[in-house]
Amino acid sequence: MSSHPIEGKVLIAGGAGYIGSHAVRHFQEHGVDVVVLDNLSTGHREAVTAPLEVVDLGDPPELERVFREHRPAAVVHFAAKCYVGESVENPSLYYRENVHYTWNLLEAMRAHGCRDIVFSSTCATYGDPVEIPITEAHPQQPISPYGKTKLHMEHMMEDYARAYGLRYAALRYFNAAGASQRGDLGEDHAPETHLIPLVLQVAQGKRDEILLFGDDYDTPDGTCIRDYIHVEDLADAHRRALAVLQVGAAQVVCNLGTGTGFSVREVVEVARGVTGHAIPARVVDRRPGDPPQLVSGGTRARDVLGWEPGRPGIEDIVGDAWRFLRAHPDGYGA
Ligand code: UDP
Repeated sequence: MSSHPIEGKVLIAGGAGYIGSHAVRHFQEHGVDVVVLDNLSTGHREAVTAPLEVVDLGDPPELERVFREHRPAAVVHFAAKCYVGESVENPSLYYRENVHYTWNLLEAMRAHGCRDIVFSSTCATYGDPVEIPITEAHPQQPISPYGKTKLHMEHMMEDYARAYGLRYAALRYFNAAGASQRGDLGEDHAPETHLIPLVLQVAQGKRDEILLFGDDYDTPDGTCIRDYIHVEDLADAHRRALAVLQVGAAQVVCNLGTGTGFSVREVVEVARGVTGHAIPARVVDRRPGDPPQLVSGGTRARDVLGWEPGRPGIEDIVGDAWRFLRAHPDGYGA
């Protein structure tokens, strides 16, 4: 199913980050006029293919200027803190940057009559799953400050929609992974905490081994199962979600995953095949807060957005991430 063309300029907050930069490129490839807003705290200037406003969402006068100058018709909002562990240690940072800064953004939108927003939510808003697969109807009982702040963001938008006519799409991602098929955009976090880039760093020779966080879970091989979704498929879903809002939907809430889970051991095995490297692995204690399984269920994204993952295979996801790392062994700017 094709989607309606996007009308007007789109402001992409967090467009220098991992998922945001892929979305910027994707929107541009579909002829959309984009402006990126990013404070470059974790994003990379080199990843931005559109005009960039280096602005912090904690700076309302600068936000005001950006809205005045660019007059965006819509916002796609990726700018947020996204580490569970960090959120447990420093919840203040998460409530400020995820909740308060989103409020700043919504206020700027309201002041300028900008009605539509698509934003990054997460399967972390569901908390410990009571059933697998997880559909959008699953109870939302987040267990980390990260998940809680993302749920607050959803609630804020729900209330703004009711009171002020905001239209919003909350896209609940499962595990974003992979890199652009062109090989020029990819994942570059410091410090890196995610499984696939860490496994590939072992293949690069930057780490001696990958630590497997627990192999005594109630799963077939004892390691945790996750639903890895290609970052370019996420980008495509954001464009479709905005198109759906622009033709009149008031609220879109969708999971974004493939519906297929892979264990940590399976991911390591795939990476061995992709890279041709032995990738030594060692089992250590569980990481606190990791549910045994997180797998997306249901067909809502297909039904509402006409979206299907175009690159659901874990070999493709790991292979694309590997191609980016081979071209950029030390990430952007290196
Ligand atoms: N994981 C692991 N070793 C690592 C990093 C992650 O075993 O060095 C596991 C982690 O426990 C989880 C899965 O890999 O079960 C995916 O973790 P990641 O941090 O990539 O994403 P999350 O599921 O936390 O969003």
